[in-house]
Formats: sequence, C-alpha cells, structure tokens
Amino acid sequence: MIGVRAEYDVVVIGGGAAGFSAVVVAAESGASVLLVSDGPLGGTCVNFGCVPTKFLLHRLSLNRRAGIRVGLSEILREARRVSSELRADKYESLLDSLGVDHARERARFKAPGIIEVNGREVRYRRAAIIAVGAKTWRPPIPGLGESAPRILDNEKLFSEPMEADPSRVAVIGGRAQGIEIAQIMARSGVETHLVQRSGRLLPEEEPEAGYTIRKVLEDDGVRVYTSTRITRVKNQGSEVELVFKSGENLVRVSVDYIYLATGRKPVLEGLGLDRVGVRVSSEGFIVVDEYLRASRGIYAAGDCINGYMLEPVAAKEGYVAAVNALGGSMKMDYTVVPRAVFTDPEFARVGLTERELARRLGVCACRVVDLADIPKARILGYRRGFVKMVVDPRTRRIAGVHMVAPNAAEAIHEAAIAVKNEMTIDDLIDSIHVFPTISEGLKYAALAFYRDVRKMPCCLV
Ligand SMILES: Cc1cc2nc3c(=O)[nH]c(=O)nc-3n(C[C@H](O)[C@H](O)[C@H](O)COP(=O)(O)OP(=O)(O)OC[C@H]3O[C@@H](n4cnc5c(N)ncnc54)[C@H](O)[C@@H]3O)c2cc1C
Repeated sequence: MIGVRAEYDVVVIGGGAAGFSAVVVAAESGASVLLVSDGPLGGTCVNFGCVPTKFLLHRLSLNRRAGIRVGLSEILREARRVSSELRADKYESLLDSLGVDHARERARFKAPGIIEVNGREVRYRRAAIIAVGAKTWRPPIPGLGESAPRILDNEKLFSEPMEADPSRVAVIGGRAQGIEIAQIMARSGVETHLVQRSGRLLPEEEPEAGYTIRKVLEDDGVRVYTSTRITRVKNQGSEVELVFKSGENLVRVSVDYIYLATGRKPVLEGLGLDRVGVRVSSEGFIVVDEYLRASRGIYAAGDCINGYMLEPVAAKEGYVAAVNALGGSMKMDYTVVPRAVFTDPEFARVGLTERELARRLGVCACRVVDLADIPKARILGYRRGFVKMVVDPRTRRIAGVHMVAPNAAEAIHEAAIAVKNEMTIDDLIDSIHVFPTISEGLKYAALAFYRDVRKMPCCLV
C-alpha cells in the first residue's frame, strides 16, 4: 500500500490478462491508474495456467522422443521457473515503466466511485474495471469439500511444491484442462485415470475430436472413463478413493491425488457488487452489455464475465473495457475465436461445428481428411488425427475448421483468417501452401470437396 494515492482516474481490480490489458490502454492514454490485485501479477495464465501447462506438455513430448524420463516434481520446478521469468519480464517490470501504482491487496466496492483497499478508501474519477478472473469450481460431491485433503487444482499444482512424485492420479473433467493435465501426468510416469461425466471427451467439439483425443490419451496409458457419475470421494490417509458409476458398473479407484478440472467460476463474494449496481447472472458471471459496461462507471472483462475462459479473449475484453471506460464506444466481437488443446498432437478449432451450421442454415457440407493423408504428418511420425472443414454449401464459404494434428494450434490461424474474411474453399485451393506443412491439411480438406485426396500426389493443385 506504500505510495497508493487517495484518487485515480481508473482503478483496475485483477492483474491477469484482462486487467493488464486494461492497465496498458488506460496508462498509455495518460490516465492515472491503480492496479489492485491480490494474486501474483500476470494472473492465472502466466502463473497457474497456459504457461506452465504448455511448458510441461512441450518438454514432456521432447523428453519422450529423446527417451528421457523426468519425475513430475522436478519438471514442475522448471515450469515454475519459466512462469516466474515471464512474470518478471512481462508484468512486474511493466508497471514501473508505465508509471502505474500497484496494491497487492483485495479490493471491494464501498459505494459508487469508492473502492476499499486494505481498509483505505480509494476513489476513481472516471472508471473502475473489474477483471477478477475465475477459480476452480468444486462439484457438490460427498467428500470433496473445501478442506478435503489430497485434492489438486491448477493453483495448487503450480504453486505448492510436491513432497514426492505421485504414482497414481485421477483427473476429474474431460475438457481442455483435464485432457492436458492427464497427458502431463501420464507422460511423467504417473498412473492416470481420467473421469468424464458426459459420453465423450471435449463434448462441445466435433465428435471426431473427442474420440481421437481419447485414443491419443489411451496410447499414453491414460485410463479414460466416460458417461460417469461420481458418488463419493473418500480420504484414506495416504491415499484417496474415487467412487463412480460408469455405465452399469460401480468403479473404485484409489489414487494419491485427485486433480479437479471441473470447470472454473468467478469468485465474486466480498467484492461489494450490490453496492454499485453490478448484476451477477444465474451462472455466476458479471453481467455486462456489448460495450462491457457492468454499471455506471464500471466495466468488467475476462473470465469473470463469460465462459470463453481464454487468455486472448480476456486480453481483448480488457482492451475494449478500457477504451470504453475512457470515453470510447467499442463493441466486443466474439464471431471468430480460435482455440486449442495443447496435447501432443494438438486439437484446434475455429468457427462452427457441423451441427451448429446445420442448425443455423438447415444445410451443411463437410469433409474430413485423415492425418495419415497429410505428408508432413507422416514425416513427423503422426497418423492419429484429422482435419475437418465445415462449409456453407450454397456459397462454399468456410464456416468452421476442426483438427487434431501436430502444430494444429499454429495451423488454425489460417482457418481463422479464412472464416473471418468469409473465404471459400476455392480461395484456399487457389493459394499455394508451403510443402510439407500441416497447414496443407486445410487445403486438402478444401480439395476433398472436389476429389478423393487419398488418391493424389503430394502437391496437387
Ligand atoms: C490450467 C489452465 C490452462 C490454461 N491454458 C490456456 C491456454 O493454453 N490458452 C488460453 O488461451 N487460455 C488458457 N487458460 C485460460 C486462461 O488462463 C484464462 O482465460 C485467463 O488467464 C483469464 O484471465 P483474467 O484476467 O480474466 O483472470 P486471471 O488471470 O485469473 O486474473 C484475475 C486476478 O484477479 C485477482 N483478484 C481476484 N479477486 C480480487 C479482488 N477482490 N481484489 C483484488 N484482486 C483480485 C486474482 O488474484 C488474479 O490475479 C488456461 C487456464 C487454466 C486454469
């Protein structure tokens, strides 16, 4: 609190992707800015999310190819080092260079225009921006209360050193986070169980994605259970038992730790939102309009306002919120949001699924190209995967692309540009691609609307 003044133009609450983006816009426009954030700067992404998970997945796949085995606790130490370097270089030093004050405290609204920080009142003249993120949601399962021991989540895994390498872990949740953590555990030599409530992994994605990623994980030795209902978690001293129904069977799995990838929800209690007219939806998110305004003089951004839960979306929202807080009128556009799961191979997606387009238009056309038919995939030694293209058959415009492939998270940007600019399959076919690349798979998927791509030479145009 040293050096914090009684009044600022803008107060930003939360120092993650959304908050930092807002801080930069506000400070660069000449406003005086206070950042109030109780967690480590950089928030979830740098400290407990994107950065450590991607480091681990990358390092473990290199180790696997080189035949090196490193225990989980050792590799976690390395991940923390990468996070802390990025935090120092990209966040901590930035505040000084921008001339932004920082209070490492919790904030709460006292009244419109007044925020309480560690018992002191701070006033904002122009706006407050709420960017408080989200935390792991604990499902109401007997034995899984807040104080239950041997339960991990992303914050625990990446901030608390482990006493010893675990030998068995059960991951609950089969969406992006659960799948990545399951591969991290399995490739660190941990016996890994992945327990998913719905009938397939990645249930919001194309069915091909969930089925392929399941096989990828099973290749790594992960035991995957779908269509489950967890009935109980029982602490048994040095281990914990997970009891669940899988179809007709009652399954009991004893493990060292349970990792919760059960979804994330904002923690808004104690923020005093009711005092300043900020509403919260029935799903627990802050309600904003299309300009990200939550109330008079108050804007909100990032994981606390919607279910995208993606770093670049949070950052864009922080930008839009700050522009509008300072008098602009910019709308947030969610029409093209590429996303990825960074397993090896990766899953990536942009635009609509086959089902979504059919529901929207009443018609849909799609083609799926097997990864084994993409020369670069064979060169890299991958056969499990696909590229699926979803097209409006009336205009041939590309509406969506879904893929499981090495480097899919990079290749998907070409598809994102195509969807954003309403390009057709012919535009893609007409574009010369570098050979050999995974991006060629997009061109193959477009070509598949005209011909059998299994029967063509490598570089046919
Ligand atoms: C394991 C994992 C892996 C992920 N991987 C990816 C990925 O690969 N790619 C991707 O795009 N996204 C990924 N994400 C999602 C991404 O991390 C989030 O979408 C993003 O970090 C959200 O940023 P935010 O600014 O909204 O919130 P956060 O980064 O969570 O920041 C919120 C900050 O607000 C602070 N705060 C909360 N309440 C208060 C208060 N009352 N007073 C003061 N401060 C407060 C918190 O301490 C925190 O520092 C991942 C998430 C997880 C959990």
